[in-house]
Amino acid sequence: MSMTFEPGRSVAAFIEAISGTSDVVSAAIAAVDSMAAVLAADTVAILQDRAVLAVRGVLDPGMPQPRVPATGAACETAGARSVLTVAIGRHTGRRLLAVRDGGSPFVDAEADLATGLSAALALQLAALDHLAEQRRYAGSDTEAAAQDARTGRMLLEQLAVVQRAVARRAPLNEIFDAITAGARSLLGDAIAALAMRDGDDPDMLHLASTCGFPDEVRHRLWRASLDAAGVTGQAIRRDEIVVFDGSAQAPESADDGIEAGVQAAMAAPVRHQDKVVGGLFVASRRPDRVYGPADQAVLTAFAEHVGVAIEAARAVDGLYQAFHDPLTGLASSALFRNRLVHTLALAAREKSRVAVVLFNLHRFKTVNDTFGHAAGDLLLTGVAERLSAGLRATDTLARFGADEFAILLAGVEQAEPAMEVTERLAASLRRPFWIGGREVTIDSTAGIAFSALGERDADALLQGADLALTAAKQDGPGCIEMFQPGMQVVRARRAGLEMDLRHAVERDQLMLHYQPIVDLSDGRVTGCEALVRWAHPERGTVSPLDFISLAEETGYIVSVGSWVLHEACRQAAEWNRSLPGAGLHITVNLSARQIRRPDLPDLVAGVLRQTGLAPELLTLEITESVLVHDVDATVHQLHKLKALGVRLAIDDFGTGYSSLAYLRRFPVDILKIDKMFVDDIGVETPGASLTPAIVGLGRTLGLVTVAEGIEDASQWKPLLESGCDQGQGYYFARPQPAGEVEKLLFDAYGSRVVGTLG
Ligand code: C2E
Ligand code: MG
Ligand code: MG
Repeated sequence: MSMTFEPGRSVAAFIEAISGTSDVVSAAIAAVDSMAAVLAADTVAILQDRAVLAVRGVLDPGMPQPRVPATGAACETAGARSVLTVAIGRHTGRRLLAVRDGGSPFVDAEADLATGLSAALALQLAALDHLAEQRRYAGSDTEAAAQDARTGRMLLEQLAVVQRAVARRAPLNEIFDAITAGARSLLGDAIAALAMRDGDDPDMLHLASTCGFPDEVRHRLWRASLDAAGVTGQAIRRDEIVVFDGSAQAPESADDGIEAGVQAAMAAPVRHQDKVVGGLFVASRRPDRVYGPADQAVLTAFAEHVGVAIEAARAVDGLYQAFHDPLTGLASSALFRNRLVHTLALAAREKSRVAVVLFNLHRFKTVNDTFGHAAGDLLLTGVAERLSAGLRATDTLARFGADEFAILLAGVEQAEPAMEVTERLAASLRRPFWIGGREVTIDSTAGIAFSALGERDADALLQGADLALTAAKQDGPGCIEMFQPGMQVVRARRAGLEMDLRHAVERDQLMLHYQPIVDLSDGRVTGCEALVRWAHPERGTVSPLDFISLAEETGYIVSVGSWVLHEACRQAAEWNRSLPGAGLHITVNLSARQIRRPDLPDLVAGVLRQTGLAPELLTLEITESVLVHDVDATVHQLHKLKALGVRLAIDDFGTGYSSLAYLRRFPVDILKIDKMFVDDIGVETPGASLTPAIVGLGRTLGLVTVAEGIEDASQWKPLLESGCDQGQGYYFARPQPAGEVEKLLFDAYGSRVVGTLG
C-alpha cells in the first residue's frame, strides 16, 4: 500500500529516465514525461528561449508565465491554475514550465523538488551539448573524433555513477566521494579534493572529500582559510575555474599546502542556489600536464554535480518533511489532500466515485496521559501499522491530527464494501496492543464519505467525512457513520450554537429545571435533580443533550457547570430553610471536563460555603463513561470530593463498561440505573429484565439504587420488589422550573407524595 510518497524514488526515476538519453531533444522528452508524474502536473514543457523543446499536456498560450528567476522557482496562480517556472542551468535560455489546471497550487517543497530536478536536467543537457560540440569540431579527423567520443561516453558514465548515488539518496559524503573519485579517474590525475565553505565562517574551508591524498596531508588540511587554499581559494573568490601549470605565469601558486611535486592544478567553483559554496580541485605530479578546455569542462561538470547533490538532498528532505508525519512515516494531511485532488479529477473524468474514511482513536489521550508520551507514540505507530496492513497498495493512509487517520480507498464505489473495509480496520484496532510490556486496548470511531459523481471538491469531501465522524463520536466508541446530507445542517446549527453559547452565562440565558426523586417505598420526594436548560433568544428552549457536549468540547462547560452548581445549591439551601427538617437533597450533574479540573474540590467547597447548603444534601453525579477514563486520577479526585462530605452518584449506570473491580474502587454512594433497563420492565421481552441483577449488584456493594426514566405505574412495583430504593421519571414528575416544583413540595395538602403504588 502506498502509505508513503517518496520524493527520493521520484528523483531516482527522473534521473534514470534522462541519463540514458543521447541527445538534447530526447532528454527533454524523457524529462517532461517523468516530471509530469513526479510533480503531478497537467502540463510540463521545456522551453529554449521561444522554442518548445518538449511538452507533455497542452500548452495554453494565454496562461501566466512567471518571470524566470536566476535561482529557485517562481510560482503564479491564476484562478484554479497554478504555474511553476524554473531556469534549467545558468544562462542557457532553457526553462521548465509546470502547470496544474486545478486542485491545490504548487507548494514550496514541490518548487524545491522542481528546482532540484531542473538542476539534474541542466547537467545532462550540458553534457550532451558538450558531446555535440566535440563531434562538430572533430569533424574530419576520425582519430580525434573517436577519442573525444570515448571521453564523452566516459564522462557520461562517471556522471551517471554520481547521479545514481543522488537518486539512491545516498548520504552526501558518499556522493561527494563518488564525485572526487570520478573527477580524478576521468582526468587521470593524482589528487582530487572537494572543499566546502564553513556555513558560519565563509572564509574557512573544510575538506569534504579527498581522493589520492596522503593521510597526513588530509589531517593537516581538514580546515584551512580561503587565502591559504591556493587555486581552490581563488576559484571560490573569483567564481570561475582557475588553472595553474608550469607554463602559466599566473601569480597564484599551486601550493595548496598539499605536497611538493605538484606540477599542475586546477579548481572549479561549486555553486548552490547561485552562491559559491566550495571548490573542486585536482592536481597532477606530471610535469607535462596541461589542463585544456576539455579538462576544464569535465571538472566543471563534476563541480556542478556537487550542487545538484546538495539541492537534491535538501529537496528530498524538505519534501519528505512537508509531506510526512515524522512519527509514523505516513502521508501528511497536505499530501493526502494533494492525492485526493488528483484522484477526484480522475474520477470526475471516469464518472466514478471516491471514498474517504476518517478514523479517530478513542482513549488515546488516556494512554498518553497515563503511560506517558513514549507509550502514546508506540501506540500510534502500532495503529499505523495495523491500518496499513489492512489496506491495499493502491489505498492512501495518512495521519491527520494527534489521533486521527485518513484513508483514501481506491476503487471502492459502494457503501457496503467501504463499510466492510472500515469495520475490518476498526476490528484490527480493537485487538490489544502490547506497549512497554503492558496490554493496552483502545477503540475507534470512523466516518465515511463518498464524492458525488463529477464532484471535484476535495475539501467538501473531507468535510463530509468529518461530519460523519462527528456523528459517529456522538453514537459512542466503536461506531461507524456514513455521511448523510442532513449532517451539514446539524453542523451549521452547532456552529451557530457555539457562537451563542459563549454569551449564554453572562446574558443570563441559562436556567435550571428540577426533577423530583422519590422514595419508591412511599412515593415521597427525597430531593431533586437539577437539569440545565438554555433559553435561547431565537431557538427557544435548548435541551442539554444539544449543548452539553458542545460546551464540553469548547470548554464553556467550566463556566456553565459552575453556574449550575451555584444556582442549584442556592435553590436547595433556600428550600431547606423554608422546610426545616425536610432534608431535601439536590443532585447536580458533572461533566468529564469538570471532573478533570484540579480546582473542582475547591469550587464545590466554595459554593457550599457561600450558599450555606449542608454538604450531605448535595449529590454529585458523574456518568459511568466518564468514570472509566483515567481511573487512577478519577479515583483520586472523587476521594477529595468525598472528603467535603458530599455524596457521589454514578449516572446512567449500565451504559458504560465499568466492571465490578472498577466499581469497588470508586468511593460512590448511589447507583443510578439507566432508563434503558427500566424500559424493559413490564414489557414482553425475550430475556428476563436485567434490572433486578443490577439492583442486586448495587445492594451488594452497599449503594443506594435509583431507577431513572420511570414512565409507567407498572414499572414501580417490580422495581420496589427487586430492592430498588428510589425512582425518578415522568410518571412521578417531569423536570420543571423551580416555581412549579415548589408548589409540589409545599402543596397545602403537604404530603409530598407524587404517586400511588397501585
Ligand atoms: P441525566 O443526568 O441522566 O438526566 C436525566 C434525563 O432523563 C433528563 O434529560 C430528564 O429530563 C430525562 N428524563 C427523566 N425522566 C424521564 C422519563 O420518564 N422519560 C424520559 N424519556 N426521559 C426522562 P435532560 O434534562 O434532557 O438531560 C439530559 C442529560 O443532560 C442529563 O442526563 C445529563 O447527563 C445532562 N445534563 C443536564 N443538565 C446538566 C448539567 O447541568 N450539567 C451537565 N454536565 N450535564 C447535564
Ligand atoms: Mg443525571
Ligand atoms: Mg441519567
